[in-house]
Amino acid sequence: MLLVSVIAVTKSIPQSNADNQDSRNWYNGSMSAVIRATEVKTIISRTTLPVGDYAANPYTGCTHGCRYCYACFMKRFSGHTEPWGSFLDVKYWPEIKDPERYRGKEIFIGSVTDPYNPEEERYGRTRALLEALQGSGARISIATKSDLVLRDLDIISTFPEARVSWSVNTLDEDFRRDMDNAVSIERRLEAMRIFHRNGIRTTCFISPIFPGITKAEEIMEKAKDDCNLIWLENLNLRGGFQSDIMQYIREKHPDLLPLYEEIYNHGDRSYWESLDRELSEYAASAGLDYITNSDSISRPFDAPPAVVNYFYHEIIRKGGIRHA
Ligand code: SF4
Repeated sequence: MLLVSVIAVTKSIPQSNADNQDSRNWYNGSMSAVIRATEVKTIISRTTLPVGDYAANPYTGCTHGCRYCYACFMKRFSGHTEPWGSFLDVKYWPEIKDPERYRGKEIFIGSVTDPYNPEEERYGRTRALLEALQGSGARISIATKSDLVLRDLDIISTFPEARVSWSVNTLDEDFRRDMDNAVSIERRLEAMRIFHRNGIRTTCFISPIFPGITKAEEIMEKAKDDCNLIWLENLNLRGGFQSDIMQYIREKHPDLLPLYEEIYNHGDRSYWESLDRELSEYAASAGLDYITNSDSISRPFDAPPAVVNYFYHEIIRKGGIRHA
C-alpha cells in the first residue's frame, strides 16, 4: 500500500451523527482522526471467512472505533501504530476489469471496516465499489453499524440476493456510547426496518454479547419483524483489548467482575451454555427456529427470522456456516 496524500487531518463528524458527539473517546481523548488517501492494487480479494467468496473493504481502519473491535489486528498489516479508531485510510483502486467474473459469487463488504463509517458520506468509496459491480451478477453482503447505508438502498436493491446486517448488542444508549462512535441503536433498527420493507434481506447481528449486559431477548423481540436472520455471537476477549474491557467492567459494572473473571480468566463456559438454553427457549416461544447453521437466502423472505447461535464458533462449530 502506498500512502499518496493527506486528505484531512481532522475527522469531521457529520451533522447527521450529532447525537453521537458526546460519545466517549477512549482511544485518544479527542474526536480527531487522521484521514488519508491510499492507493491499493485491488479492492476485492478471496476470503476464507464463512461470510462470502470474496471480501472488500473500501477503507483501512474504522472511525466507529468500537472498543472490542476484532478488526484492530489490521494495524499490523497497514503499518499503523495509532490507536484503533483514530485513523482511516481511504482506498483508491484501479478500475475493476471484467466485473462479470464475480457473477454468482458473494462479496462481503465490510469484514475489517465499516463501509458506512461517517467518512463514506464524503469519500463515497463504498458507493463507487457498488457502482463498479452493478449489473455484474455478483451477490453482495454488507455489514454495518450505520444508517448511511440508506443512501445506497437504490443501488443495493439492484443486486441479486443482496443482504445487509446491522450490529446491535444493546438497547441501552449509554452502554452503546461507551462502546462505539457509530449511530444510535434506534437509527440502526430503523435502517433495518426500511431495507426489510423494501424487500432486501436483513440480519440483526447481536454481537458481541457482553455477559450480564447484552439483553439478547429484548433485542430479538424488537428486531424480529424486520429481519430475516438473527445472529448471536459471544464476546471474545482474546484480542489486545481484553485489559481495556476488563478495566471498563471493573469501573462501570463492578458487580459483573467476578463473572468476567470466571469466563475470561478461567475459561468457564457455563454462562454461555445457560444463555444458549435461555435463548433457545425464547426462540421456541416466539416461533423462531433456533439453529447453528443457516443461510437466509434459502428461506422464504416472509418467514420469521431464524436465530443462529454462533457462540464459540471458532472452537465448537468449525466450518460450514454461511453468513446472513
Ligand atoms: S464498526 Fe466494525 S470494523 Fe468498525 S470499529 Fe466497530 S467492530 Fe470494528
